[in-house]
Amino acid sequence: MRLVVASNRLPVVLTPKPGKGWSVEPAAGGLVTAMEPAMRRGGGVWVGWSGAPAVGQPELQRALGSELGERPYGMRAVRVEEAVHRRFYEGFSNQVLWPVLHGLPPSPAVDSLEWESYREVNRRFARALARIAGPNDLLWVHDYHLMLVADELRSLGMENRIVFFLHTPFPRLLELEKAPHHEALVRGLLSYDLVGFQTPRHESNFLEVVDAIGDRGVKGHRWASPKDRPERRRGRSGHFPISIDFEEFAEGAASSQVVERSTHLRRELNGRTLVLGVDRLDYTKGLPEKLHGFDRALHRFPELRGKVVLRQLVVPSREAVPAYVETKARVEELVSKINGEWGDGGWTPVDYRYERWEREELLAHYRIADAALVTPVNDGMNLVAKEFCAANGGSGVLILSAFAGAAGQLGHSALLVNPRDPESLAQAIRRACAMPAEERDARMTAARRSVRVSNVHRWVSSFLEAERRVTDPR
Ligand code: UDP
Repeated sequence: MRLVVASNRLPVVLTPKPGKGWSVEPAAGGLVTAMEPAMRRGGGVWVGWSGAPAVGQPELQRALGSELGERPYGMRAVRVEEAVHRRFYEGFSNQVLWPVLHGLPPSPAVDSLEWESYREVNRRFARALARIAGPNDLLWVHDYHLMLVADELRSLGMENRIVFFLHTPFPRLLELEKAPHHEALVRGLLSYDLVGFQTPRHESNFLEVVDAIGDRGVKGHRWASPKDRPERRRGRSGHFPISIDFEEFAEGAASSQVVERSTHLRRELNGRTLVLGVDRLDYTKGLPEKLHGFDRALHRFPELRGKVVLRQLVVPSREAVPAYVETKARVEELVSKINGEWGDGGWTPVDYRYERWEREELLAHYRIADAALVTPVNDGMNLVAKEFCAANGGSGVLILSAFAGAAGQLGHSALLVNPRDPESLAQAIRRACAMPAEERDARMTAARRSVRVSNVHRWVSSFLEAERRVTDPR
């Protein structure tokens, strides 16, 4: 069986170089971090948008081909015109689906043209997959951009197994209903043979929705297509918490370059405690909430002043979507306010970086951080939490939102907080800074064990194992 994976983005971004040729950069984000090592291990083909403006398909494939030498899997670019992709990606995917899946209202600025583009891009993916898939291939489609691909493939007559994993949360019906066309999207999901979620709660929300929409017989985690359909198929759902390649992060963090860089970073800190934040710019990541919590900690606990630095990396993301521009402005305003109020000549409380870090720089920070503040208001999983545990060289404390999927695996070893309650954050920051070495060690050892065991390879095998059991009547 060959695995054919589809996601909105390929694991690389192609950008035209001035003059001629392409620069090929690794793509950022949790989906790529998780799937890339799995594809390296298992092989197959990865189908996705390359990030490049619409140029001829042969030229794109040639540019991708130059990357392939190093990779044990293939890549196929799906070609989509810029305007269609913009309406699909910035429009329906990220102004309707993304907020609604995170329990927030959709943007009212989106209309039927965006929905049409969403359908069109899903159709393009389906056609690309139909062209390359052999009869025994397993098609594994990822994330909220591509909910309708199986439906499209079935109407092209595709008989293969087609499975889906949702990387984001899945909300209650009350919240989902705010999305236009939500019924079509849910029916689209029911065309897959297996639909995977990050947590049991997301899965049970989905089953509640399927029950309410109600033209499929749902029994436990299974459903069957309606009786009036020509072909009856069975499907099922499951929950599979995504993870990281533990060894890759642990070994990478112990490499000589990273150790050298982290020694330098540690020296620069001048004995101060480093609290680390690493988040994509996104309103779901709880950045203003985190800053309010840090501000409260400095206000309530004078012993932290001058002693603690919050180094906050904010990775640029979806810069063309208005809500992201507003979030950035809000974050930057809060950073200046906190630094203006508490900082002095020798100490800047929030060391804000709006950039992207190379893997080495990220690992060096994970390695030396005394604590990590991972406080999304809602997050499917949050891999940063797991990466910190795998890469930390000592016994850093993880402060983790109860609303991150990762709390399911790390809730016992982390300090769990409600990100919307600044007092809860402030108390956790103080507790982390004052925690005795023995407790820190015990918590970090337990967290590392959990990530080592529940790693991304186990995630892939449990998902594929569930796929094999779809037709099993038990
Ligand atoms: N990351 C990155 N570049 C950076 C900082 C972080 O590629 O400069 C990666 C990080 O290692 C992690 C991913 O981005 O694997 C973020 O995944 P997460 O699940 O935490 O959130 P997402 O961005 O997928 O919502």
